Amino acid sequence: MIELLHFSKSYGNFVAVEDLSLRVETGEIFGLLGPNGAGKSTTVKVLTGLSKPTTGKVLINGLDITEQPIEVKKHIGYVPENALLYDSLTADEYIDLVAELRHMEMIRAHTQRDELFELFGLTGEDRKKLLSEYSKGMKQKVVIIAALLHNPDTLILDEPLSGLDVNASLIFKEVLRKFASHGKTLFFCSHVLDVVEKLCDRIGILNKGQLVAIGTPQELLTLSGQPTLELAFNKLTNGADIQRATEEVLRALSSF
Ligand code: ATP
Repeated sequence: MIELLHFSKSYGNFVAVEDLSLRVETGEIFGLLGPNGAGKSTTVKVLTGLSKPTTGKVLINGLDITEQPIEVKKHIGYVPENALLYDSLTADEYIDLVAELRHMEMIRAHTQRDELFELFGLTGEDRKKLLSEYSKGMKQKVVIIAALLHNPDTLILDEPLSGLDVNASLIFKEVLRKFASHGKTLFFCSHVLDVVEKLCDRIGILNKGQLVAIGTPQELLTLSGQPTLELAFNKLTNGADIQRATEEVLRALSSF
C-alpha cells in the first residue's frame, strides 16, 4: 500500500507538488497523469526515496520513506523514465550487480534473472553483449528485469513501456496485471492514455502540482462529461481548445 499524506515538494520558492493526499491499495494499479511539468516525476522521485518531501509524509506498507529509507527500498521495484545503465557491463553482469546491491542470494537471483530474460526474449547471445551495444528497447527490458528481480511488492513505473516492441509491451502489461492480482501495489505514470485507461483501476490527474481529479476511468469521464479519457484529461487540465488552436496555427502559417 502507498500513502501520500499532505505531501508537498518545493524547489526553492517554487512549489512543484502541493498538499497531495492519496492512497493506493494493495492489489491496485494506480495511474498518475498530468501535463508536462505537472509534478509526476517529482512525486515518483519522492516515492522511491530519491528525494525527500518538503512537507507531509509518504508511506509504503506503513513505513515512512524518510525515516526508514533502506527498509522501504526493499519493498520497491522502480522503472525510471530515463535509466542510466553501465555501458561497459554485459546485461548478465549488470543484473548480477543489481542482485548484489540488493543482497540477494545468488542462486535465487540467477533463477529469477534467467526466467525474466527468457520472458522478454533476450537470448544467451544478447546477454553476453555490452549494454553499450543494446538498442533502446533492449535497454528498457534490462531496466524492467532489474526492477522485478527481487520480486518487490510495490512497483513504481515511470513510462515503463517506452521503447518496448509490441510483444514485449503485451507481455509486460500482462505481468503487471498478474502482479496486481497477486496483491502487489502498482503506481504507473505515463502519457499513453489508452494504456493507462486499460491497465489502471484508478487514475489521478495532477495539474500544476495539484490533484484535480481522481477516480476510475469511467468516473473521470462522468466527472468531466467527456466521451474519452483524452478529452477528459484536456478538460480537467484546462488544455487548449484543440479546434481553435489548430485553426489559428493553420491561419498563421497560410498567411505567409
Ligand atoms: P513531464 O511530463 O514533462 O515529465 P512532470 O509532471 O514529471 O513532467 P516534474 O518533472 O515533476 O514534472 O516537474 C514539475 C515542476 O517542477 C516543473 O515546473 C519543473 O520545472 C520543476 N522541477 C523539477 N525538478 C526540478 C529541480 N530539480 N529544480 C527546480 N525545479 C524543478
